[in-house]
Amino acid sequence: MIKHRYMKLFGVKPGKKIQLKDYDSGWNQIEELKKLDKNNLKERANVILEQNLHDLTQVQQLLYADDRYSVLIVFQAMDAAGKDGTIKHVMRGVNPQGCQVFSFKRPSVEELDHNFLWRFMKSLPERGRIGIFNRSYYEDVLVVKVHPELLQNLPDGKRDKSFWAARYEDINAFEHHLERNGTVILKFFLNVSKEEQKKRFMERLDRPEKNWKFSAPDLAEREHWDDYMDAYEDAVNATSTEWAPWHIIPADNKWVMRVVVADIIASTLSNLDLRFPEVTEERLKMLDEARKKLEEEK
Ligand code: ATP
Ligand code: MG
Repeated sequence: MIKHRYMKLFGVKPGKKIQLKDYDSGWNQIEELKKLDKNNLKERANVILEQNLHDLTQVQQLLYADDRYSVLIVFQAMDAAGKDGTIKHVMRGVNPQGCQVFSFKRPSVEELDHNFLWRFMKSLPERGRIGIFNRSYYEDVLVVKVHPELLQNLPDGKRDKSFWAARYEDINAFEHHLERNGTVILKFFLNVSKEEQKKRFMERLDRPEKNWKFSAPDLAEREHWDDYMDAYEDAVNATSTEWAPWHIIPADNKWVMRVVVADIIASTLSNLDLRFPEVTEERLKMLDEARKKLEEEK
C-alpha cells in the first residue's frame, strides 16, 4: 500500500508562504517516476493508480457505513489542466451512490443575489458521502479577483482594501465550520504550466475530435495568466489551514497527476478512524430470529 508518500511532497503547510514559481509542474519530484521514459511512466503510473483506486473503493464503503464523516474534495485549476479527467479517473472505482460531483460555472442572477457561499452550501456532501467540487467558492477569490467587475452588487464601502482578506477569512471560517462538524476537506490546485496549456489548446484546434473542447473565452483568460497565478498564490497562502489543506499537484503529465491525487485522497481517508457500526444486542437478537424464521421455511 502506498501511503503518505505524496501528501508531504505536495501539501502546503499551514502558515508557510509559498511561491508558485517554486512548484514544478512536471514530475521530476517523484523519485520512482523520474527515471522512466514516457511509455514506462504511463505504465508505472497506472499500476500505482490501480492500487490506490482499490484502497479508495474499500475505504469509501467504510465511510458510507460509518456515517459520521463526509468528504469534500475541491479542484481548482487553469483551463485544460485536466480537472475533468482527473475526477473521472480517480473516482472510477467508487460507488456512484456515495459520491457526487458538482461543477460550478458563472453564477446565475439568483445566485448573485445571495452571499457568495450560498450556492456551495446547498451542494455540500451528506454524511458518509464524498462530494467533489469541480471549481468552487475559490472562484470568488480567483476569477473575480482577476476581473473585479464580476463582483456582486455590494453596499458602498464594502469593497475597501480589506475586501479580499475578508473573503479569505470567510472561506477559512466556512471550512472550519465544516471540519468541526465532521467534513474532511481536501483541496487540489492542478498546476499546469503555461506552455503545456498552449500545447493542449493547440491539440484542441488541430484534432477534429477535440475541436468541441476549444473555447475562445479560455484563450482570453490565458492572457491574464500572471494575474491568475498571483491570485492563486494569495489564495493558497491565505487558506491552507490545518483543517483544509491545499495540495499543489504537478499537472503537465496527466498520469502523474492522477496518481498523486488518488494517493492523497486514499491515504487521507485511510487515516480516519472509520468503523462499521456496532451491532447492538437487540439487533443481534433480531438477526437471530430472522435466521430462524428463514430456516423454518419449507
Ligand atoms: P469545462 O470547460 O471542462 O467544461 P470549466 O470548469 O472550465 O469546465 P466552463 O463552463 O468552461 O467550465 O467555465 C466555467 C467558468 O465559470 C469559468 O471560466 C469560471 O472562472 C467561471 N466562474 C466560476 N465561478 C465564478 C464566479 N463566482 N464568478 C464569475 N465566474 C465564475
Ligand atoms: Mg472551460
